[in-house]
Amino acid sequence: MKPLPPLREVIARYGLSASRALGQNFLLDEQLLDRIAHIPGDLRGQRVYEVGPGPGGLTRALLRAGAEVVAVERDARCLPALAELADAAEGRLRVVAGDAMRIEERAEAGDGAHIAANLPYNVGTALLVRWLGGAQWPPWWASLTLMFQREVAERIVAAPNTAAYGRLAVLAQWRGAARIAMKVHRSAFVPPPKVMSAVVHIVPKPAPEGVRADVLEALTAAAFGQRRKMLRQSLKGLPGALEALEKVGIDPQRRAETLSVEEFVELARAMGE
Ligand code: SAM
Repeated sequence: MKPLPPLREVIARYGLSASRALGQNFLLDEQLLDRIAHIPGDLRGQRVYEVGPGPGGLTRALLRAGAEVVAVERDARCLPALAELADAAEGRLRVVAGDAMRIEERAEAGDGAHIAANLPYNVGTALLVRWLGGAQWPPWWASLTLMFQREVAERIVAAPNTAAYGRLAVLAQWRGAARIAMKVHRSAFVPPPKVMSAVVHIVPKPAPEGVRADVLEALTAAAFGQRRKMLRQSLKGLPGALEALEKVGIDPQRRAETLSVEEFVELARAMGE
């Protein structure tokens, strides 16, 4: 890597004041960024797909860790600063201008890439649901290292019988191992958001046999769509669901939040038969 000016200087020089509309809260603390970049493990020679590099703080840390980075950013104001970083990275950074929700991410990032991102809440959750879904498993990505509002991070790793447990927990845990790898204080961001954050790390694990992802997704959407209701009520409109409850011996008077991830998997399997 060629030497780089401090991030604050880059932000000032290119006039990258954080835009609230784009959900921008930048991380500038190099030590903290290095800790995040180490969450996926040894990145030397590995490819990383970064969503929303902004002025490039996390991108720099990923490059320092030895990764090759493909970064997609939709704020055109950041592109000159990222071009400067790409130049310093001597072939290890490719920047794609565009919206991460719309680009052909797999073709851009390549199979086996680790995904890393510090994203606005709504975009982050939508992308997470997309990355966790689909018929193909193991997926095209090797791991996810994603910053979320702490409350969302807690929903992703939640256990049954807790208020945080819901659709996100089941979708993240039925064929993935999810953990909170780091808590991040709001004061670490410029400007500081109103709430605390946390980095979630997810790696794929073997998918249970005979379970279709689309069936499990429909099941969790229905069950948690009316989480206060008994399953016999919330699953009434879902073809085959009530029969599946009986088949696997789950009491229809229970509520969604009492079912373990394994019980959701069993139900989805019985519905697919
Ligand atoms: N990674 C930088 C950091 O940690 O300091 C910036 C983080 S900031 C919270 C989120 C970044 O994601 C912003 O640069 C924003 O422009 C970008 N962004 C927001 N929505 C996006 C989208 N749909 N596709 C690509 N980038 C997006």
